[in-house]
Amino acid sequence: MLQKKGGIMIVLSSPSGAGKTTLVKLLSKKNNFFISTSHTTRKPRPNETNGKDYFFVTNQEFERLIKNDEFLEYAKVFDNSYGTTRTPVIQNLENNSNVIFDIDWQGADQIKNKKLDYKLITFYILPPSKEILLERLSNRDMKDKLIAEERMKKFDRDVLHWINYDYVVINDNLNDCFNRIQKLIDAEINNGSKDYDRNFIKKHVDKLLS
Ligand code: ADP
Ligand code: 5GP
Repeated sequence: MLQKKGGIMIVLSSPSGAGKTTLVKLLSKKNNFFISTSHTTRKPRPNETNGKDYFFVTNQEFERLIKNDEFLEYAKVFDNSYGTTRTPVIQNLENNSNVIFDIDWQGADQIKNKKLDYKLITFYILPPSKEILLERLSNRDMKDKLIAEERMKKFDRDVLHWINYDYVVINDNLNDCFNRIQKLIDAEINNGSKDYDRNFIKKHVDKLLS
C-alpha cells in the first residue's frame, strides 16, 4: 500500500445534536489534534466565540472565499453556509499535526473524493435514541424551540449517510463514546485490531428510523 505522508485527517459527522462538537473538543484536548475551525454564515450561539468555535462571516465574505478558491470543502446546511479553508489544514498536515474536522456528510464526501495524500479516518456519531437527541438539542438551543424542531426534521435523511463512513459510534455515555473513538484511531494509526461491529450499528440505525 502507498505510504501516506504527514499528519492524519479525522472527520466526525453526525445528525445535529448527537454530540460531535463535544467529542471533537475532547479528542483534540487529549491528543493535541489541531481542530479545523470552519467559516459559517450562521449567527453565533451565546457561548460561541468568533475565531474559536467558527469564523462567523457575512454571505458576501463567504462568496468571496468561494470565488478565491480558498475552501477545501463547503456546503449549505440548514439554510446557512459552512466551509473549511484549505491553507491551515494543509499547513498542519504538512507539519505532521493531525487535523480533526466537525463537518457534515457533504463536506466529508468532498474531502474523501479529493483523495489527498494524507490518511483519512471518518466517524459518524449516532444518538442512543431520537428522544435523547431532542432532549440534547432542546437543552442546547433553549432559546429557540424552532431550531431544535427544524434540526430533528432533517434527522431521518441525515442518518442515511452513516453507510459512507469508516466507523459509526453511538454517543450514549460520553466517556464510553470517546474511548471507543480513541481506540479506533489508535488501532488505525498502529495497524492494530479493531473492535467494531457494523451489524450492530445497522440494527441501531433501523431502530432509530422505525
Ligand atoms: P453536535 O455538534 O453534534 O450538534 P453537540 O456536541 O453540540 O452536538 O451536543 C449537543 C448537546 O448535547 C450539547 O449540549 C452537549 O453538551 C450535549 N451532549 C453531548 N454528548 C452528550 C452525552 N453523551 N450525554 C449527554 N449530553 C451530551
Ligand atoms: P452547527 O450550526 O450546529 O454548529 O453545525 C451544523 C452542521 O454544520 C453540523 O453538521 C456541522 O458538522 C456542519 N459543519 C460545521 N462546519 C462545517 C464545514 O466547514 N463544512 C461542512 N460541510 N459542514 C460543517
